[in-house]
Amino acid sequence: MSLPTLRLDDIPEEGLNLTSQVQQEELTLSATEGVFQDGFSLSIDVDKVGRQVNVIGVLVGTALRQCVRCLKEYEDAVELPFEAVYRPAAGSHEPPRAVRSRPAGREPQPAAIEEEGEGDEDAVYTLDGDQIDLAGMLREQIILGTPMQPLCRADCRGLCPVCGQDRNERDCGCADTGLSSPFAVLRQRTGKDKKRSGSSSGKGLS
Ligand SMILES: [Zn+2]
Ligand SMILES: [Zn+2]
Repeated sequence: MSLPTLRLDDIPEEGLNLTSQVQQEELTLSATEGVFQDGFSLSIDVDKVGRQVNVIGVLVGTALRQCVRCLKEYEDAVELPFEAVYRPAAGSHEPPRAVRSRPAGREPQPAAIEEEGEGDEDAVYTLDGDQIDLAGMLREQIILGTPMQPLCRADCRGLCPVCGQDRNERDCGCADTGLSSPFAVLRQRTGKDKKRSGSSSGKGLS
């Protein structure tokens, strides 16, 4: 009932399929990185190719987030599919890179670019000896999957910039400053003829 500890030798040729319940603390996820009170259910497929390990899975949980518009906390059902590749640390068990050199003159890119291009989609991690660090990878997936601008709902009307009323609850009747949509902000920026109704409506725009 917790995060499995995986070693290279534990993975049979045919691969592994694991499910488990993982608590937030096991991922060393701090409260600022996410709050998942009930933890996560984790389901992963693990495959070994030589000394490379491919992990495909999904992490499901409920995040407690704060809406950037109305500042209310809300529960966000999170389903994070992920793919990760684990490779031995450079120089440990792999043949030297020179072995994989390309035919001369065929590929003009420098080696550095070639390396960056590897595993475009998959996150690549280094095996810790023969250990597969699931916690570190999952933590990263959760952070990557956290919205920059969490919204309780896509059409959250937010707080009134004039009186602070939560406009999802009721209309306060203040003059609409039009700041609720990013396009309105643009309009206000460019439209010189438009008069602003109050000093607090600018939200930092001058
Ligand atoms: Zn909201
Ligand atoms: Zn108002």
